[in-house]
Order: sequence, then structure tokens, then C-alpha cells
Amino acid sequence: MAALPEEVKRLMREDLRELEPYDPAFRPTEVNLSANENTWPVSEARRAAHRAALDAVALNRYPDPLAGELRAAIARRHGLSPRQVLVCNGADEGLFNLLLAFAGPGREVVVAPPTFEEYANFAALVGAPVRAVRRSEADFSLDGAAFLEASRSAAVTILCSPNNPTGDVVSPAFTAELARTCAGVTLVDEAYIDFAEPGSSAVSLLASSERLIVARTFSKAFSLAGARLGYLLASPGLIDALASVRQIYSVNAVTQALGLAELASAEEVAELVAAIVAERERLAARLSELACELPVEVFPSEANFLLLRLPHASRVRERLRDEESVLVRDFSYARGLEGCLRVSVGTPAEDERFLAGFARILGEECAGEGA
Ligand SMILES: *Cc1c(COP(=O)(O)O)cnc(C)c1O
Repeated sequence: MAALPEEVKRLMREDLRELEPYDPAFRPTEVNLSANENTWPVSEARRAAHRAALDAVALNRYPDPLAGELRAAIARRHGLSPRQVLVCNGADEGLFNLLLAFAGPGREVVVAPPTFEEYANFAALVGAPVRAVRRSEADFSLDGAAFLEASRSAAVTILCSPNNPTGDVVSPAFTAELARTCAGVTLVDEAYIDFAEPGSSAVSLLASSERLIVARTFSKAFSLAGARLGYLLASPGLIDALASVRQIYSVNAVTQALGLAELASAEEVAELVAAIVAERERLAARLSELACELPVEVFPSEANFLLLRLPHASRVRERLRDEESVLVRDFSYARGLEGCLRVSVGTPAEDERFLAGFARILGEECAGEGA
């Protein structure tokens, strides 16, 4: 995207003038494995439940600001009180509100890159300095001691588990220590936790941690990325603080109704998640077989995506899009992720299409250099 026009920049807040609009130059492809959505088909019964929920929405009325019914259903799902739940317009809105309330000028945010880039972007929007405790270049492991140390003087400490895009989880034991020793609040972003080993979530720590916040979303395991629905879990006091800075009608009535319908289908979603996890392992195994012939590294993942490192990554991704109509995400521009692509776990048919195109193109690229 182009930089902002100079005459507009002069009218803006100085610290925001170098930002650019987010535009992923979206081009429709037949197989989109770039955004970690749930691409598996939604059953007719579940679609019917969505339609029934939408039918009952009174669109002429403002939505319930705190989404009382949905809030209660989410609380039941996690064995928490509704006062520990804040429903958001995507987890993204929750993350932004967290930084708006707790970070800012002179109030530092600690992150562990490579990780979800929105944390640093949102920190910039609220004028907060960011301290990066970088992961190991070799295997993306976290320097726990350095991270704990940095968090001791930070207003907000953020970990993503499983981490996007590296796929590894943070142990609840480490999170418990972090929440106990950090100077401010600790957020664990669990957008992908449904795909991880049972026992990986930090939610059970909420009972004993007053300064811990867990973020969840309906965009990844559930099939509602287009509806924009996420939520934060925390102590009632923290939730009140977050609720006090939010846009009061940010979660619309249609989305609230769809969220309730999805929760009623939670068993079906759990079966889908199990199938996606099995498919992730199948895809990883197929890529590892490929790795015997072609120089591709597959990192282990507890999410619904795999991170790969290969030569000519950007070129391979472009050719996949243009020649095969398969879209994956390029991270090779990012520090620490040189040569890396991220591919979402799709349906077996989508993944086979990706694999065939990927093997062909990577093979040609490597042959082209005389390797
Ligand atoms: C996708 C994603 C989110 C955002 O989820 P939404 O609910 O769609 O806003 C948050 N955190 C991470 C790490 C993600 O990958």
C-alpha cells in the first residue's frame, strides 16, 4: 500500500504518520490456505441452526451491549462466571482494548517475536513502546528467563499459545509464573488452543491469577471468521476495566446470535477440530516425505497451520497462487522468518492440491538453480 499523502500526514497525530492502510492485495484463489480459517464444510444441521438464529434477530434494535446471553453461554463453556467474560468484535478488538486500557506512552508492551504482528501494530496505535524478547533463530524457543525479566517492568506482557506463526505452545506453568511476577497484566492469546494438546490452556489459571487475561476467537476452530467474534476471559475487575474502554455496540446482534448457535454445536465442532488435527499430522508427514528429496523444513505445530522453510519461498508462494490458484502466507520478509511460508491445514482435497503444486514448483525452482 502507498504511504499517506503529505497534506494528510500534517493533519495527523505525529506518531501515526508513517502507518499504511492494511490491504493484503487480496486476489480470490480457488484454495485459500493463507488465513488459518476453518475451511471444512459446515453440516446442513449447523447451517440450519445459523439460519434459525438469524431469523430471530430484531435488526431494528441495538444489540445487547455486553451480549448477556452469549456471555453466559461462553462462561458455562469454561466453568467461569459471566462477569469473567467480555465478548469482542473478533479477538483483535479485545487485544486493542487491552492495550488501550493498560498500555500507552511510557507504558511498555513485551512481546516474543516472531509472533502475531497485531500486538506491535496495536501498541503503536496507542503510543506504547514495544520491547521484543526474540525467540531462538534456530527453533523459535522462548528464552523464559529473559522474558520473565522483561515482563517485570512492563505494563502489558503478551504471549501467543499456540504461537502464530511458529506453532508452539507456552506451558501453563510458565504462564502462572509470568502472571505472578509481571509488573502489569499478562495476556495469553489462545486463538489456536483448540488444536493443541489437552491441558495446554491457561484458562484454569484464571481462578488464582488476578492479572491474567486469556483471548479466544470463533475465527479458527469455529467457522465464524466472517462474523467477527472473539472474547476475553479474566477476573471480573479486569473485565470491567476492559468493558469501560470498548465501543458499546461493537458486537452486532447477528454475530451474537450466530455465536450462540455455534456454541450449541460445540460437539460437532470438537469432532471437526479432531479431524483437522489428524489432517495436520498427515500433511506434516507428507511434507516430511517430500523433504527427503527437496530442501524443505517443517516445524512442529499445535495449531491448524504449518510453518515451512524453503529456498525461493516468496517465488514458490507467488507461483502457487498464479499457476495453481492456491494461496499460502509469505513470512519471508519478516525478521527471523527468512525463507518461511505458513500454510493453513485445509481439507484433505485442498491439502493434496497444495502438496502437488508445491512439490512441482519447488522442484522446478531448485532444478533452475542447478541444485
Ligand atoms: C487470527 C488471530 C486472532 C484474531 O482473531 P479474530 O477473532 O478473527 O480477530 C488473534 N490472535 C491470533 C494469534 C490470530 O492468529
